[in-house]
Amino acid sequence: MSINTTDLSRPGQAHVDSYWAVTAGEEVAGCDPVQGDIDTDVAIIGAGYTGLSAAYHLARDFGISAHVLEANRVGWGCSGRNGGFCSVGMGKEGVEAWVRRWGRERALDSYDLTRQAVRLVADILEREKIDAQRTAEGGLELAHKPNRVEGMRAQAERMQRDFGIESQFLDKATLARNFLDSREAHGAVLHHEGFALHAMRYVRGLARAAQKYGAILHNNSPVTGWERKSGQHHLRTPGGIVRARQVLIATNGYTNDTLNPWTLGRLLPVLSNIIVTRPLTQAERDSVSWQTYFKIWDTRRLLFYYRLLPDNRILFGARGGVEDSPAEHSYRKAWLERRLREMFPPLDKVATEYFWYGWVCLSADKNPHIGTTDDRSVHYALAYIGQGVALASMAGRLTAQRMAGDSKVDYGALLSAPLPKFPFPALRRVYQRAAYAYYSYEDERR
Ligand SMILES: Cc1cc2nc3c(=O)[nH]c(=O)nc-3n(C[C@H](O)[C@H](O)[C@H](O)COP(=O)(O)OP(=O)(O)OC[C@H]3O[C@@H](n4cnc5c(N)ncnc54)[C@H](O)[C@@H]3O)c2cc1C
Repeated sequence: MSINTTDLSRPGQAHVDSYWAVTAGEEVAGCDPVQGDIDTDVAIIGAGYTGLSAAYHLARDFGISAHVLEANRVGWGCSGRNGGFCSVGMGKEGVEAWVRRWGRERALDSYDLTRQAVRLVADILEREKIDAQRTAEGGLELAHKPNRVEGMRAQAERMQRDFGIESQFLDKATLARNFLDSREAHGAVLHHEGFALHAMRYVRGLARAAQKYGAILHNNSPVTGWERKSGQHHLRTPGGIVRARQVLIATNGYTNDTLNPWTLGRLLPVLSNIIVTRPLTQAERDSVSWQTYFKIWDTRRLLFYYRLLPDNRILFGARGGVEDSPAEHSYRKAWLERRLREMFPPLDKVATEYFWYGWVCLSADKNPHIGTTDDRSVHYALAYIGQGVALASMAGRLTAQRMAGDSKVDYGALLSAPLPKFPFPALRRVYQRAAYAYYSYEDERR
């Protein structure tokens, strides 16, 4: 069974009805669809953080004007839909597991790359004067059950002692006094790096910056066919053929199995869902001691992520759901509303004003990957496992360097491992259902 998350027969679709889409201002101008055939050095498929960061760095640092082909519109995929957490770290394993696998030096190099990714986003925002409402640096990881507190405290101490990764354990009383109080917050680790931002403003700012240096962006231009002829890639779009020497696949959770024979069976898109409430009053914030704009997540494997937005609305999200159907979406919305009320009973009258969802991208080994397919002129940067704000921006830059001819660019131990195929790709949704059932059991175990 193929998995296809992008409907190529309906290009130019509107954005989901998200808080970001409504509050981001103007769409990016000058993104005409492909009209007629085009010859270019580099074609990039997908106008999210990956594709646009690659286009930006190719143009700014190497004078290469890539053509970015987007099926819908700039930021239509996850880059315009996410929670806006710009975070250190990647994949589902922690640093300790990486050390066991590759040794200390390579593991810490990979961790350091993710720190650089956060710094890269901060630098782009500043250099390009993008008003993405970035918050102060910091984030809170909450112990969602009392039996998670000791493990969390011990891990924070090990991170500090063994790897010099700064983090600070907070007990429940300190957490409530200084940050927030919730039925599902029994202690926390305060992480000092990473921040939150406005997802759509960042992606649009990045697109405009890429255009400023010479990148050419095409909305409404789905790649519907792909042939290799006389040393070139021929990408078919409704408006014409784009002939390129090198191609970057930057379609992440919106990659159709049918895009290219190589992508078939390597990715598993899974839904993540978000609600945004009306703004809280000061009395409502006081009722749960919510004093922080830091990004917040919990110790579940299927974790909840949330934050207070600059206008004091709550953004509250979680993974869940397998089907892209109206029934599934209305179930997920109601489920998020109920879980928010359960965590913060004093806020039970606070209405939801936005709900949306998007396809997060998983790989079989639950790690992100950057590389080339069997054809060295086809690059990919995929499978950020719900952590692409920083990482996709970095992946775009690294890929730009490789595409511009720097073969020594180091992707680090984790990212450079080839993207594996799922063992029985037709069963991907079956694995997902089984994994979700197991994770939910583990998450709620006393
Ligand atoms: C609800 C939700 C919350 C999330 N929260 C966070 C978070 O807080 N922090 C974090 O770090 N990450 C988060 N993520 C993940 C993060 O948003 C992604 O990892 C990141 O945006 C991926 O960027 P991208 O550029 O690779 O892909 P995308 O932004 O998804 O862009 C892919 C684009 O490819 C286009 N496309 C697909 N097929 C074709 C084709 N054939 N031709 C042309 N174009 C095509 C699509 O239209 C799409 O616009 C979240 C994701 C979701 C869904």
